[in-house]
Amino acid sequence: MFLRTVHPVNTTNGFSVEDWPDLPYARQLKSGIPWLTFTPGLEAEFRRTNLDETLGSIRTNLCLAIAIAIAFSAMETMVLGAKLNRIPSLIHILMIVPVLLIVLAASFSRHRHRIYQPLTTVAATIYGLSQVAIQLIASVGGVPFLFPSLVLATMYVYFLAGLIFYNALAANVIVLFIYLAAATATQIPTAELSYDTLAIVAANLVGASVVYMHERTSRLRFLEAGLLREMVARDGLTGIQNRRMFDQHIHRVWQQAVREDKQVAVLLADIDCFKNYNDRYGHQAGDECLRAVATSLSRCARRPLDFVARYGGEEFAVVLYEASREYVAEVLTRIQRSIAELNIPHEASIVASRLTISIGAAFIKPSLNRTADGLIQLADEALYTAKEQGRNRVVVMEAEYSTLKTGRFEKRKGQAAG
Ligand code: GH3
Ligand code: MG
Ligand code: MG
Repeated sequence: MFLRTVHPVNTTNGFSVEDWPDLPYARQLKSGIPWLTFTPGLEAEFRRTNLDETLGSIRTNLCLAIAIAIAFSAMETMVLGAKLNRIPSLIHILMIVPVLLIVLAASFSRHRHRIYQPLTTVAATIYGLSQVAIQLIASVGGVPFLFPSLVLATMYVYFLAGLIFYNALAANVIVLFIYLAAATATQIPTAELSYDTLAIVAANLVGASVVYMHERTSRLRFLEAGLLREMVARDGLTGIQNRRMFDQHIHRVWQQAVREDKQVAVLLADIDCFKNYNDRYGHQAGDECLRAVATSLSRCARRPLDFVARYGGEEFAVVLYEASREYVAEVLTRIQRSIAELNIPHEASIVASRLTISIGAAFIKPSLNRTADGLIQLADEALYTAKEQGRNRVVVMEAEYSTLKTGRFEKRKGQAAG
């Protein structure tokens, strides 16, 4: 795939890095993933996405861990005998199983994106230290063969707990050092201690390197998916959302407006005499002009559900949610002012010496017997009227009202859409 090579990335399959849009995903891909960390905004998004994607397996793994802990506890009752097993069984009942249950519960919490990593890191450390305690108690008591369960715990924390690399590493390194300190302080034979130390260090090396590579791949995949999503959503020339996203957005917003009983407005803005502009100043100047208009428009509608897209050619669409007449009028005024401020000379225009646009606006309260397509149709009719009436103007259509009292805009009675 063309995004696969990341470090260094110059050109792959003929698709150059220079062609990537200037987006956070692309910037991060270009700079690689130093220290397996993204810039703060992307890092938070990655962790959230990663947890969402792995949540199902994490929960299954936690159930598995609880079952394994119970099985080991039962086995230890047999191999250690009642007296030696007193503390290990308490560790299982009071530490390991409750800690695993707490992490399982946290995975269902609505705050899980915030708490899962820190909580599980602490839990993983407690889990590992519990295994160290059990293993050392058994070893000092003459049963040295419980050591594999400590290695198993180490592997579990690396591979199955859903921890990011650094958190898994931190938990396991703490456990490793405490094991080394505690094991050295006990009377375990040197040969056994050396062998076990090598085994636990090796388990950490294997676990850490596999998790490092796995997380690096996940991070690359996350960036590539994000970049592809953005590239599919954006218009290549202007960088604003494209027609595909407009179609998705209007239908989503429409459903929401039906549910919440809110008004929706669609504004269609078309550059006047743009063919003449291209003929006069050249296609490249025309492209620059489209970029400038797109940037201006996207600055004019900035509420969270407001949406600006390139509708096609030299036509742009703005969707306003919960659009009162006052808000629509305010946005229209802002758009007209911002296009005037661009102050782009257009000597070939038949309406003015500067670049101008015509806007058709329509707003209605969605209901079940109307459709989003009807609203777009209404805005299109308004735009047609604006062109017909001489361009460089705004025509507003509304289904509910026959007039618009702002005085600034053309008035025209619309018919119910859809
Ligand atoms: P009107 O005032 O009636 O809208 O006239 P107009 O010339 O703007 O409209 P018309 O539909 O006749 O021409 C649109 C022009 O927009 C023709 C086309 O070359 C130009 N255009 C469409 N997309 C692009 C583009 O991506 N870049 C450039 N430079 N021009 C484009
Ligand atoms: Mg035009
Ligand atoms: Mg047009």
